[in-house]
Amino acid sequence: MAVRQPDAGLSSMRARNHMVERLKEQGVRDQGVLAAMLAVPRHAFVEEALASRAYEDTALPLGRQQTISQPFIVARMLEILRMGGRELGKTLEVGAGCGYQAAVLSRLASDVYAVERIRQLIERAKDNLRPLRLPNVRLKYGDGTVGLPEAAPFDSIVVAAAAGSIPQALKDQLADRGRLILPVGAGEQQLVLVERQGSAFRESRFESVRFVPLLMGIE
Ligand code: SAH
Repeated sequence: MAVRQPDAGLSSMRARNHMVERLKEQGVRDQGVLAAMLAVPRHAFVEEALASRAYEDTALPLGRQQTISQPFIVARMLEILRMGGRELGKTLEVGAGCGYQAAVLSRLASDVYAVERIRQLIERAKDNLRPLRLPNVRLKYGDGTVGLPEAAPFDSIVVAAAAGSIPQALKDQLADRGRLILPVGAGEQQLVLVERQGSAFRESRFESVRFVPLLMGIE
């Protein structure tokens, strides 16, 4: 594990405060989401060489052609899931990557199941999350396009990679009144919210986004 400078904690807190101020300027209003983003040290999830850029509002490379999502998009997706004062409850994250969003989710959801299809990344996520001791986060190696049947149904599902169309398994694994948010589209992508009510599913569209693709199978 990398050794950090003695003042890294303090300067990172300052940088995190800046990040949260910027999220507010960008229109994020949900106090719970802002508090969770303030609490999680994003620099601990990126490579040492990129740590100084951890609080910029940008996606950063994780290797294997994957990226840690832009802070604004992480905040925005969680804010949409919580709209109307809703609690996240038992939550599935598809595309755990380095584990950053799972750490943010751990502060907002009762239970977090985070699935990742690249073994090297799930190992990295485990290493990143271990020192934070988040007892309600479980990491799973697997293909999240099929959801996580053994832990379903979920009150909330958040997908961190763009799907060509909404995977049926994810809709099926939503609890009644559950919500799924995901980027949809091949070239142009849009955030789509799916809300389940009994056997009915209502879709709403939000802003345009840019995510890495949701892929099938494992590596
Ligand atoms: N939430 C992450 C962002 C990771 S980027 C973070 O906070 O950093 C998206 C991730 O989705 C990549 O790691 C990619 O490997 C993963 N992914 C893509 N398709 C997937 C699938 N079918 N199942 C699980 N993970 C998938």
